[in-house]
Amino acid sequence: MKILVAVKRVVDFNVKVRVKSDGSAVDIGNVKMSMNPFDEIAVEAAVRLREAGVATEVVAVSCGPAQCQETLRNAMAIGADRGILVETADELQPLAVAKLLHAVLQNEQAPLVIVGKQAIDDDSNQTGQMLAALAGMPQATFASSLQIVDGQAIVSREIDGGLETLALKLPALITTDLRLNEPRYVTLPNIMKAKKKPLDTHTPQSLGVDIAPRLSTLKLAEPPARAAGVKLADVAALVAKLKHEANVI
Ligand code: AMP
Repeated sequence: MKILVAVKRVVDFNVKVRVKSDGSAVDIGNVKMSMNPFDEIAVEAAVRLREAGVATEVVAVSCGPAQCQETLRNAMAIGADRGILVETADELQPLAVAKLLHAVLQNEQAPLVIVGKQAIDDDSNQTGQMLAALAGMPQATFASSLQIVDGQAIVSREIDGGLETLALKLPALITTDLRLNEPRYVTLPNIMKAKKKPLDTHTPQSLGVDIAPRLSTLKLAEPPARAAGVKLADVAALVAKLKHEANVI
């Protein structure tokens, strides 16, 4: 069984992002970029299935600029067998990514697709759902456990007040939640090995996909700066402030 995993190159989760002065976008000049954390979890889940003998091949796909090759090499260092880059310098919105991934999926015919639940840059939480709809596949979002049993994906999802367990007939799509696994550390020998793994490149044009944006961002703004704190003499002063200034008691 082949598994297709989507990996997005995003601003590293440790970076404090800055909005450009004209409010048009986040400034990503000279900023550290990494694989979206939910996608690392997706790659780890796929590689574990291959290591368990359930899957035979793990294919990582990334859509975006040429630098996404680094993200694919990282996925291959975790253990993906090969990578596919859909290269474009144009802006990609979730629907466009879903269409590109769908075109790749049609070529690859993978019975299991694993996607992150959301990209930490746009927080859209749309791509997996749109891809499942385009491919006509059942989907289980926010998976916190995944097993393949008798041609079915058995998925647990954390919901309010408990766990929901679903059985999906393959081919199916899963989106990963944080608790699905803890991705392994990438070792130097595996980074070296990853450099030799195959990486194919397509473009939206070669896949025949229209990636024209359907949404426009009107404005981005940073949250208001936090006011400085004050030191109070005693509890009575705190209670007075909560009562008369904050009006919370
Ligand atoms: P989003 O809908 O933007 O929150 O993204 C959800 C998931 O879709 C991500 O965690 C990735 O697995 C996948 N995805 C989104 N954008 C891309 C991209 N440009 N290339 C590859 N995968 C992507």
